[in-house]
Amino acid sequence: MVLYWNRPRECMERGQLEVLQLRRLQKTVQAVYHNVSYYREKMQEADIYPEDIRSLADVVNLPFTTKQDLRDSYPYGSFAVPLSQIVRLHASTGTTGKPTVVGYTREDIDAWAELTARGICCVGGGKDDVVQVSYGYGLFTGGLGMHYGAERMGASVIPTSAGNSRRQAMLMNDFGSTILCCTPSYALLLSEILKEAKIPVEDLKLKIGIFGAEPWTEQMRDEIQKRLQINAYNIYGLSEVMGPGVSIECPEKNGMHIWEDHFLPEVINPETGEPLPDGQIGELVISCITKQGMPMVRYRTRDLTSITHEKCACGRTHARIARIMGRSDDMLIIRGVNVFPSQVESALLAMGEVSPHYHLVVTRENNLDILEVQVEVSENLFSDKVRSLEGLAARVKKEVENTINLGCKISLVEPRSLPRSEGKSVRVTDLRKI
Ligand code: ADP
Ligand code: ZN
Repeated sequence: MVLYWNRPRECMERGQLEVLQLRRLQKTVQAVYHNVSYYREKMQEADIYPEDIRSLADVVNLPFTTKQDLRDSYPYGSFAVPLSQIVRLHASTGTTGKPTVVGYTREDIDAWAELTARGICCVGGGKDDVVQVSYGYGLFTGGLGMHYGAERMGASVIPTSAGNSRRQAMLMNDFGSTILCCTPSYALLLSEILKEAKIPVEDLKLKIGIFGAEPWTEQMRDEIQKRLQINAYNIYGLSEVMGPGVSIECPEKNGMHIWEDHFLPEVINPETGEPLPDGQIGELVISCITKQGMPMVRYRTRDLTSITHEKCACGRTHARIARIMGRSDDMLIIRGVNVFPSQVESALLAMGEVSPHYHLVVTRENNLDILEVQVEVSENLFSDKVRSLEGLAARVKKEVENTINLGCKISLVEPRSLPRSEGKSVRVTDLRKI
């Protein structure tokens, strides 16, 4: 049985959905033009005015908004309402530089809770669930975003936040958590901690994982599902646009529905800014069409994905975005070849011989870039038999090199020797830049 949180909205006929989107887009463009100086300046420069938005297709004539625009107006310059109407502030993690500040009105917080509730329901959650929120609480949007959604849905929420993993494992067992929300890397760590604490996963009530905030692969999903014996779903979001819950998978696990009654997505060629057709990978651009505090028009997420508008078997009509490959700034250029950490992850995990813990180190020697892939050997395979490890290293090297089309060095390291992450994991150390 398919569960919907808001069936009329989730299954809205596309024509009607587009009428709603256009009305909301027009209203948003009016609001930013009149209330945010950098939008007004950029629009005047491009000679485009709110009344020029007559159809959804006209969105492509609006200027893009970038992270730099937000940094330039730090902290409050991009708010479209006076601070007295802002009830909450968050900041992006700052993974790629100075954090950006985001502000929410009461209505924005309400819409966010609605959408995360919709998302939790979309993966099969309901009011009888016990939701353990192990995303960090605080300026990061992960914790509070999921918290409000789970609470709105009527579930019992355990606000553990990230960290203190032993205790997390104990509470998961004692409180009978049925849904776990955290980063995929933290889910992996929790599976190790459960093992260490001798809590058999069979004894847990856990059935669903809602994982996101960092790139992960299908292979990593298989690994986590196996270890925790759950159904793991991908959730996507970013603070500038809202926070977690912008987009989430349904039980079809075939792309993440992006809630188009609140967001207008586009995929563009990151080099030229031109729109790309469905199915082609490019940069995701999102316009928020209901946000009041800090509306984003054509925000360049830098996240790489593709989009499809095909109707999903679950009955929802909202478009779906593919698993995010990474951000354009995660892409490493090594000896002229483009490499994403997620490609290495899928090659490593597809082999089934090494653990899911890896780290990439890039150095430069004599003007030549060198990629080292450090990967932990699985506990059961770890032995002092240098010979068998050498054979394994050679196999890993072949697999990774075939996937990324680039020569690399493989360092097999001892189980549990690479750092673990409680939030967003850092997959790369690029010593060329230091
Ligand atoms: P920061 O940009 O500083 O990391 P956020 O905490 O707002 O700030 O993180 C949002 C970013 O996290 C997204 O732009 C995207 O790169 C990444 N992200 C979120 N969810 C996913 C996901 N499911 N898969 C891949 N990447 C994700
Ligand atoms: Zn679906």
